[in-house]
Parts: sequence; structure tokens; C-alpha cells
Amino acid sequence: MRLRNVKGSRDTIAASEYTINDERDKKGKWNQVFQNDNPIHIEIGMGKGKFITQLAIDNPNINYIGIEKYSSVLIRAIEKRSQVDINNLFFIRMEAEDLENVFDQYEVEQIYLNFSDPWPKDRHAKRRLTSKEFFARYNQILVPDGVVIFKTDNRELFDFSLEQVPEAKWELVNYTYDLHHSEYAQGNIMTEYETKFSSEGKPINRLVARRFIK
Ligand code: SAH
Repeated sequence: MRLRNVKGSRDTIAASEYTINDERDKKGKWNQVFQNDNPIHIEIGMGKGKFITQLAIDNPNINYIGIEKYSSVLIRAIEKRSQVDINNLFFIRMEAEDLENVFDQYEVEQIYLNFSDPWPKDRHAKRRLTSKEFFARYNQILVPDGVVIFKTDNRELFDFSLEQVPEAKWELVNYTYDLHHSEYAQGNIMTEYETKFSSEGKPINRLVARRFIK
């Protein structure tokens, strides 16, 4: 999908009190950013930020960081963020490929991936956020028993992801091909894409994967 370039959004983002611009300098020091030692959960490819903003409101004792590469959608998340009175949510405009330079080992407890880009061509498989190459990156930043929670409407990407979990030597904790009609439906927070796809009648796939302790 091509995104409209919102004029001036990069400048607005850089000036926002909710975004961290020198993210590499914060590696190993995120507790100082939040001014507490609460666990850190991140969402990669957050888009317009509805999901992570709601999580942050619901869970004041968890610190959240939303990561998004495109300014034009990140700016929408900043708008939502500015309408709520919370202090446990920051955003970074960055590419997920840079994660290891931004977070230290054991600095992150949980990673959310929602409706990640499918990269359907085989030769682009390594760019999928649930590829074993990305799980290797997550190994570098997560706590020993840290988890990845992944939702998608895309069955091909989901089946690929189910295969990648054991290949990356991670443990598949649970999964469903129809989240909204499953035992995990209760308490589910819908993302922007999830609302759109489920209103079109598409089932939502979800998996939880855990690192083996090492
Ligand atoms: N999570 C949102 C948006 C899904 S679309 C929702 O469910 O509604 C996928 C988003 O991930 C897009 O906004 C895209 O810009 C972002 N994205 C894709 N690859 C990324 C990467 N490597 N690093 C950071 N963001 C990425």
C-alpha cells in the first residue's frame, strides 16, 4: 500500500514530546526515559497507534514503545497520544532492522506485531517481521522468556510464521486461525487493520511465541 505523504509530518514528529529522536543513545537506558523500572513492551509497525495507546491506558504499570517507519501514519498516533493523560507511552520513527542498536539485551519483555507487511515474494522472506532472521534480532533484546504476539489476516504469512517459530528455536505457546471466535477473544484490543479486515468478514489469525530461556 502506498501511503500519502502528510506534509511536514517529519518535523512535527521530531518536535513532539512523545517521540524519542535519539533512540540509539537510549540503548540500555530506557528505564531512565520512563523514570521507573516497569517492564517494557513494544509494538513494531504500529501504524496509527490505536492498539498500543489503548494498552498503555489499560496497563499503567507497563511501559510501551510504538515503533513505526512512516511519518505519515506515526503522526496519527501522536495525535491520539496527545488526547490522553498517560506517561507510559513513547514512539520511535525507525526501521525494525535497527532494533539491536536501540535496545539492550533483556531490555524488552514483550513484542507485539500486528498486521505486519506480508512481503509475498520468496526473495523478500527475510524482511517479514516473523522470519527467523527477525526472531534472531528479538533474541538480542528480549528477556530470557520474552514473548512475541502476532496477529494477521494473511493466512500465507501466518502459516510461514508458524513454521519460522520452531526454526528460530522458539516455542509456540498457542495459536488460532480465528481469534474473534476463540478462547482468546476476550480482552482482545482491535487494531485499525483488524477492524477493517474483520468487518470484511476475514478471520484474524494470532500466535504467541516464547523464547527459550538461555
Ligand atoms: N499495526 C497497525 C498497522 C499495520 S500495517 C494495524 O494493525 O492497524 C503495517 C505497518 O508496519 C505499516 O504502518 C508499516 O509502515 C509498518 N512497518 C512495516 N515494516 C516495518 C519495519 N521494518 N519497521 C518499522 N515499521 C514497519
